[in-house]
Amino acid sequence: MSDKSVLVVNSGSSSIKYQLVEPETGRCIAKGLVEAIGEAGGHAKHTFGEEVKELDRVIDDHTVGMEIMEQLFAEVGPDLASCHIVAVGHRIVQGGKYFAGPALIDDDVHQKIVDLCPLGPLHNPAHLKGIDAARKIFPDLPHVAVFDTAFFQGLPEEAARYALNREVADKYEIRRYGAHGTSHQFVSGEVAAILGRDDLKQIVLHLGNGASASAVVAGKAVDTSMGLTPLEGLVMGGRTGDIDPAAVFHLAREAKMSIDEIDDLFNKQSGMKGLTGDNDMRRVWERIASGDENAQAAMDIYVHRLVKYVGAYHAVMGGLDVITFTAGIGENDAALRARLIDRLGFLGVELDEEANARRSDEARTISKEGSRVRVMVVPTNEEMAIARQAMTLV
Ligand code: AMP
Repeated sequence: MSDKSVLVVNSGSSSIKYQLVEPETGRCIAKGLVEAIGEAGGHAKHTFGEEVKELDRVIDDHTVGMEIMEQLFAEVGPDLASCHIVAVGHRIVQGGKYFAGPALIDDDVHQKIVDLCPLGPLHNPAHLKGIDAARKIFPDLPHVAVFDTAFFQGLPEEAARYALNREVADKYEIRRYGAHGTSHQFVSGEVAAILGRDDLKQIVLHLGNGASASAVVAGKAVDTSMGLTPLEGLVMGGRTGDIDPAAVFHLAREAKMSIDEIDDLFNKQSGMKGLTGDNDMRRVWERIASGDENAQAAMDIYVHRLVKYVGAYHAVMGGLDVITFTAGIGENDAALRARLIDRLGFLGVELDEEANARRSDEARTISKEGSRVRVMVVPTNEEMAIARQAMTLV
């Protein structure tokens, strides 16, 4: 065991995901999930090496959830007192204009996360519950906030600002904040380290249930597909991605839908789920195999959107060295990768079909030797990235 570990906490409105990791060795020591907090039947699962413990009980709030986590560490291991924990790292989705990097959580930082709740209404209030509970349980440890938006805080104005009335946009702080930044930063950093180059023009495709693309030049993000919220951009599991905002006016006027109903429709009932009935890409492929035409059309829309973003970012960067796939779909769905790369022949991208088909947890190249643009698969590890960022402040 290395001598330092970080407890990474990702707190949602009714769940706490946690991992105890060693930033220096890249090892995950233990991990767990406390879920259905505040609901009728709560559940927790803790994994330490080969040992797994699950329990079912009512979990009133995040503080009780955090106590259960502590109890599971005590019962199953490892013994937290001997793990040399140097910090608790908290994943925070919305850092707004304030945070271009990780921040030690003091009263001022805490207040800023509170102030940012209107810009991250689905996430920041839940993160605050996790922070408050964790500070109660671990009062002597430094707590560090790591923001999903931080990597995109430095986007050039032309990419960050919408062509929305300047006064209104500034008053209500409407701009492109992006999301998944911790993953885009981690993955683009891994690519640069593997290739030993810090001048690369990269496109990172984070394709999971949520999906986003970023354009990264020499380690700095120059554009990204998610916007004011994680709704904009690529087609996702349940989200529309790009859609004409006039669809909102139309649904409000013609269907008499409320803003909350439209929010739910765009964020939860659309994307692959709304097009096919399934948000999981594996089920979508099964539907395609059984001749489901809507599923085939959904896949075409998904790939078409990706082709547009790759083309746009190639143009924005005036060149392209590497395209990297990451997250659940990006790392595992060889058929999807092949479909996209097949459409990118105009860039001089050549897929190595054998390398693409090989399953692996390792970072790897899946383009042919001599391909004008390299294509890679790099597993994302947001917990490790959060832990490493947290370490920089303690
Ligand atoms: P994430 O949000 O990164 O955890 O990704 C979750 C998504 O990855 C799931 O909803 C699936 O659509 C997708 N996924 C996971 N494994 C596979 C696989 N073997 N093939 C295709 N898609 C997968």
